[in-house]
Parts: sequence; structure tokens; C-alpha cells
Amino acid sequence: DNGSAKQTVVLFPGGGVGHVGPMTQLAKVFLDHGYDVTMVIIEPPIKSTDSGAGFIERVAASNPSITFHVLPPIPPPDFASSRKHPFLLMMEFMRQYNEKLESFLRSIVPRARLHSLVIDMFCTQAIDVAAKLGVPVYTFYASGAGVLAVFTQLPALLAGRRTGLKELGDTPLEFLGVPPMPASHLVRELLEDPEDELCRTMMNIWKRNTDTLGVLVNTFWSLESRALQAFRDPLCVPGRVLPPVYSIGPLVGKGGSGADEEEAERPECLVWLDAQPERSVVLLSWGSKGSLPEEQIKEIAAGLEKSGQRFLWVVRTPAGSDDPKRYLEQRPEPDLDALLPEGFLERTKGRGFVIKSWAPQADILTHPATGAFVTHCGWNSTLEAIAAGVPMLCWPLGAEQKMNKVLMTADMGVGVELEGYKAGLIKAEEVEAKVRLVLESEEGRELRERAAERKKEAEEALEDGGSSRAAFLQFLSDVKNLRA
Ligand code: UDP
Repeated sequence: DNGSAKQTVVLFPGGGVGHVGPMTQLAKVFLDHGYDVTMVIIEPPIKSTDSGAGFIERVAASNPSITFHVLPPIPPPDFASSRKHPFLLMMEFMRQYNEKLESFLRSIVPRARLHSLVIDMFCTQAIDVAAKLGVPVYTFYASGAGVLAVFTQLPALLAGRRTGLKELGDTPLEFLGVPPMPASHLVRELLEDPEDELCRTMMNIWKRNTDTLGVLVNTFWSLESRALQAFRDPLCVPGRVLPPVYSIGPLVGKGGSGADEEEAERPECLVWLDAQPERSVVLLSWGSKGSLPEEQIKEIAAGLEKSGQRFLWVVRTPAGSDDPKRYLEQRPEPDLDALLPEGFLERTKGRGFVIKSWAPQADILTHPATGAFVTHCGWNSTLEAIAAGVPMLCWPLGAEQKMNKVLMTADMGVGVELEGYKAGLIKAEEVEAKVRLVLESEEGRELRERAAERKKEAEEALEDGGSSRAAFLQFLSDVKNLRA
């Protein structure tokens, strides 16, 4: 080694598809700026077939310029038999990797070659490793600035309460930088009891997200300027100086894999899209893990059929239960004949296309034939649609998705809400009406126009001199000053 070698950035994305994907895009930004990048990977303890099996292998194979370093595996927790919440087991599991991460970071010599450690929002335990070694550590936030603003302010709001959020129901809560958020929208399942280990662990993670030297957020200034400004307000978290927040997005990939090259064989659904009129197809998909009950699948089918519109629908085998462990289940490929109403596929042949389990979502969204997107409001899906200028129908399931829904509908103006989710079932009539609203009506046309404007803004943010590019350069310069 010599001093003139390139500096290395170490990225630590944790496990999930929705986290490895955007971090791969971040890796490319560092590569473009002349850095070497190593992604430190852990063997995912959850191997559900429908979350894109072999995802990391595909990402690694299609991004040869990024070094992937797999940490020596640790036996996964026994999710099935433990009484602890799977989220807590997952966090304990991640903490065990600290030692392995430390050994890996120590192996990078001379230390000056190590530019920084950038960690995922759920890998805050790694801050301890960085502190021990004196390595500059930054957070990469794979959700939006609005959600980061809420979570940053939430511990202070809950600190004075003896009870959690449950009893507040839909009471709107005020936070700097975002529209009022109904208490029910704040990942309430994790916040029922402030004394509970689950709640305390969440709070700690949220606090530590801004305990690093800075936060790189996958968003762009014009999309979330209100939330981004909030972090600069001394009243955001009274008594605490927050680190800089850099909006460097949208970092979105192709097909969720971050692949640079075109796939050798064009997937069948894209070939089908090629034959559809421009902006005529509604895509329906619920992220890497989401699945719906059978009754709901039947309602969707009836609604799509009645709408008369073209559709591309990702259907999954329903989860077995409502248990928090449902995400860990290995689900088989769906049996379409059993799940869909009789004759549905024949009656919609030509104008509908059903995909089992997993679709090349980002490629579908950028296809000119795609005109609307029924989404669970996961942040990557949201950004992919915004970057493609596709208006959304918001169908939040869990995590921070209801907050995203509020931001998408009330703030960004790129989506309409499917209201039935509140009652636990979206009826065929609503599916039909909202699909038609977006694809056929005057309101839909306005929504499309706003989505097209957002797309243009997203492109501008990433150009030379654009806000996201400038924020990234500012980040690099801040790291440099710090190291000097
Ligand atoms: N995705 C995909 N095909 C699918 C489902 C999901 O390519 O059938 C990708 C999607 O494009 C996005 C990611 O998986 O990049 C899901 O991330 P998001 O944040 O939207 O949701 P999460 O999976 O974290 O709930």
C-alpha cells in the first residue's frame, strides 16, 4: 500500500432488499467521485422466497466495480420459538456482528485509506465500532426526510408520557417539517408501551440515527424542503444540535437490483408492456415483503376487471397470519387458479398481466406504458415512481408507510389514498373507482402533471450543479475538513 492509493468507503447496509438496493446506488455515487467502495454484507437471517431470493448475489454479480465483503456468518436467531419480538431478535443479531465488522475495518491499512463508514438506519450498533477505531461514521437514511424528521422528534414527544401512542388513536401530532401526523400512523405497533423493550429499542435507534457525523438521506431538496429545513431549526430537538442532513437522492436502481447492464433476456412482462399504449397500465405491487389476504386479492381482481383498464399485477401467496413473524415465513409461489376468481385470467387476457411473487419493478415504472402505480408506499417504491413521473395510489401496509402516504398525498401531491385500508379491506368498488380516477379523470390528469414535474425536479437535482449533487460534494468536503 502507498499513500496515493484511492480512499475506501465502507458501506454497511444490513439485510433487507429495500436497504441493500439504495446503498448499492450510493456506492455508485462514491465510485463516480473516485473512491473505492466496499459493501459489508451479512448473511440475511430471513430467506423468504418472495423477497427476491438470491438478491445480494444478483446485486454483486451485476456491480463488479463494488467490492462485496461477506462477514463470517453468525447463526441466525431462532425466530420461530423465541417469545421476543422478531425485531428485537434481529437487533441483537446485528449487534453480534460488531466484532466481525471491527476486524474487517482493522484489516484496511493504512487506516488513512479508510475514508468513512456509512451505515444503514438499522445498523446504529456499528457506531460503537467506528467510535472505538476513530473512523468517521455517517448514517444513510433509506427512507425520506419527513419520516426522519418525525422519528428524530418523537423521543422527546414520548418522553413525558406514561402511555404509548395507542390511546391517542387518530389524534394529529405536530412535528416540525411535516403535515400533522395521526398518532395511529407512527408505527404504533412498536410504540404501545414506552417502558417496553421494543419501544425503548426503537427510540434508541431513532436517536442514534442522528448521533453520527451526518445523515445522507435518499431524497431531494425540492421534494422535501420543509422537512429538510426542520433539521436546521434549533427548536427541532430542544437542547440538541443535530448533525448536517444531506439530501443526495433520488438514488434508485433498475429492477431493484442496481444492475448496470441490460439483462440478457427481456422479461416477459416488459415485452407485454412494449405492446401497450403509452401511460395506459396500472402496476400493483406491495414491496419486497408485502402480501395480502386471499379475500383482499379477490376484491382487487373484481375491481380491476370492472375498471376495464390495463393492469400489471404482482400476486403473492397470502401470509399465514397477522403475527409479526409473518415476514419471516417462507412462502411458496402463489397458486393463481386457487387465489383468483374463476375465469379471471381468461376474461382479462390481453389487457391484464399477472406476475407471480416478484417483478422487475423499477423497469416497469420507467416503461412508457406505465401510467399509475398502486403501492404500499415503501420509500424505494415511492422514489422509483417519482423518478419515473408515475402517479400513485397509496395502500400503506406497515412500517413507516402510513407516514409516507401522508407526505405523498398532502405534501408532494403525487398520490391519492385508497381509504379502505383503514377498515382492513379495500373493496372492489374503490379499486375500480381509484384506478379510473388516476387513469381517466381530470383529477388524474392533474396528478400526472404534478408527477411529471417531480420527475423533472428529480433529474435536475442529480445534474451538475443540482441540489443533490451539491449536497454530496458538501458532504465530501465536510469529511475532508474533519479528517484534516
Ligand atoms: N421490488 C421489486 N420487485 C418486486 C417487489 C419489490 O423489484 O416484486 C423492489 C422495489 O423496486 C424496491 C424494493 O424492492 O426497490 C422495495 O423497497 P421499498 O422501500 O419500496 O419497500 P420494502 O420492501 O422495504 O417494504
